[in-house]
Amino acid sequence: MTFETMGLPPWLLDGVRAMGFERPMEVQARCFGPAMDGRDLVVQSRTGSGKTAAFTLPLLAQVKPTGIPTVLALGPTRELALQVHGVIEQLGKPGGLRSACTYGGTGFTAQLEALHDGVDIVVGTPGRILDHARRGTLKLSGITRVVLDEADEMLSAGFYEDVRAILRMIRKIEQMFLFSATIEPGIENLISDMMVDPVHVNLSGDRVDVDRIENVAYLIEEEGPRIRSLVSVLESEDPGAAIIFCNTRKTTESVTAYLRRRGYDAAILNSDLPQKQREAVIQRMRDGRQNLLVATDIAARGIDISFLPCVIHFDLPDDTQQYIHRTGRTGRVDRRGRAVSLLSARNLHNLKRIEYRYGIKLERAQLPSREETLKMLALRRIRELKEKADCQPVIPDEFQAIAKEIITDPDAETLVAMLVDQYLSAGTTAGGSVSSDRGYDDPTRTESGDGASPGGHGERPRPPRKDGGSRRGSGGRPGRR
Ligand code: AMP
Repeated sequence: MTFETMGLPPWLLDGVRAMGFERPMEVQARCFGPAMDGRDLVVQSRTGSGKTAAFTLPLLAQVKPTGIPTVLALGPTRELALQVHGVIEQLGKPGGLRSACTYGGTGFTAQLEALHDGVDIVVGTPGRILDHARRGTLKLSGITRVVLDEADEMLSAGFYEDVRAILRMIRKIEQMFLFSATIEPGIENLISDMMVDPVHVNLSGDRVDVDRIENVAYLIEEEGPRIRSLVSVLESEDPGAAIIFCNTRKTTESVTAYLRRRGYDAAILNSDLPQKQREAVIQRMRDGRQNLLVATDIAARGIDISFLPCVIHFDLPDDTQQYIHRTGRTGRVDRRGRAVSLLSARNLHNLKRIEYRYGIKLERAQLPSREETLKMLALRRIRELKEKADCQPVIPDEFQAIAKEIITDPDAETLVAMLVDQYLSAGTTAGGSVSSDRGYDDPTRTESGDGASPGGHGERPRPPRKDGGSRRGSGGRPGRR
């Protein structure tokens, strides 16, 4: 099937071409016909399979540009709402259709202006949509079509009341779409309550795509510090770019601080971050300007970073479904991806549940030893420093003279380690606000076997990994076993 034979209006064909889409993805081809016939849809399709356009195309093909909202699309996170809004805006433009995005965490004014200007489609998160509706700044009475993106989450306890309240404010829903990668049997009752004889499109969403995504678990010591194992995983995997998922905000903070302190290009994403920073950091990942993103599950759903080669589950999620959603950030649109988990004996039952439920087996990988890790890390940092040195044409004579003396000094190791420490400290202020990791129980400073240097400084030199080249395609994995 092609977009032409699907029956898209010519202006929408222009829109898909402008997005660079050549032919419809399966979910788009399967949904368009029934949606155009006015049917309700319940669609289960894996993440990254083109779901946004699957509901956007039939909506845009049916909506008239009146300036009064007739379509409402709801999503669970601000980032997802913005992403959906972006697609609708881009595809709808040639047809003169306008969309506004409303979400919490930012002021009302700009969103009010957008709504006042007259829009045809409103996208948003439930809380803020409800606020606008209650203040009378958004009239829901004209809405006739509703989309619940990430529907299982929208119908879970956290959102259900708000979503119901919004739906009750709509006079007549003529068409409703529910889209998600996972749809739990438990929500079937809610679905039959809200929808009329829906068409079910099931593209095996509730499973891990084993052909494209390698699922790997590194076995880590129960008593060893998990964060140190993460460094070994990063050195072993050398993913280029990755999202590192943690179960709590507190863990994202300590992990980010720890990695940045050691020169990794890591940024944090959790719900404590101001909205503007949340958007900026995702954009940096999309643009390839940020290598590592340490995130809570606010990044687990829907977010589309096309080329992300790897997802790391620093903590295995308590909820098995989250494994699918998090993992779905890699291997988008038929690309290959890698999902790496840190697995201790304590997590074994979680792992078994994931493996059983999704019929997969995570390949077990062995963590490199501490010595191997430090060696890989040191060699990489030296490589990066050399690259920097190549680009720095003049190093003053005085510095060369100091260096010459240092390397023959009996305390050379301590002195160089101290310089590296200061060099890395200077780099920890970039890339979002995280407190210093001095509060983190830093194992490299307290445990034996890491070669506390004679000067009493427990750190080995760790030159920075400040983006020593493009991450795309840097997927070499030295030391992987
Ligand atoms: P989604 O599942 O909606 O998050 O989409 C995943 C990715 O697929 C996004 O980067 C879209 O831009 C891309 N995409 C959607 N439809 C198509 C298509 N027909 N051809 C190529 N890429 C597409």
